[in-house]
Amino acid sequence: MSADRGQRTGLYDLHNETRVNVASLLQEPVGGNREIRLSLDALPLDEDVVARGIAGAARLTRVRDAVLVAARARGHAELECVRCLNGYEQPFAVDFAEEFRQTVDVHSGRELSVNGQAIADVDEDETDFAIDENHELDMAEALRQWIVLELPMRPDCGLACPGPELTWLGEQQVGDSRLAALANLLPEEDRF
Ligand SMILES: [Zn+2]
Repeated sequence: MSADRGQRTGLYDLHNETRVNVASLLQEPVGGNREIRLSLDALPLDEDVVARGIAGAARLTRVRDAVLVAARARGHAELECVRCLNGYEQPFAVDFAEEFRQTVDVHSGRELSVNGQAIADVDEDETDFAIDENHELDMAEALRQWIVLELPMRPDCGLACPGPELTWLGEQQVGDSRLAALANLLPEEDRF
């Protein structure tokens, strides 16, 4: 991957790639930055759901001990409608900023440490992101998390949905009267 070609400024294109080498950016003073144009055919969001047609842009800025990634992206995910159970394309747009911590000194290659503890081991359970020992950062997990947050909890294919109208009360599905009517046709012990 060669999105970072060592130039001080410039626009880099990443296609079907989310890793960026920030070795040269880390050698610049705070405030140094890179602009990146991003396109991804597919990004798995979980075992079943894949985001597709992702297009976006990111600005990487050198901050103290880290690189700040400010990004926006849009695309769509194939979801299953909760009403008609058909698959449909759910568009999404995300806009976020995440810090990627520096774990290795860019000149010496030595692990950075805080009070004798390697930075890579500090705050392990925090959900932040890190620049790896090859001075690469990977935007995939940040993108994935932000896209998942953006997708609807109860996917609905829209006004043309052929499925029943569902009424939701908090987390509980209150009622589809047709299902209730069906339930009445069942023997008592099989009712739901
Ligand atoms: Zn539907």
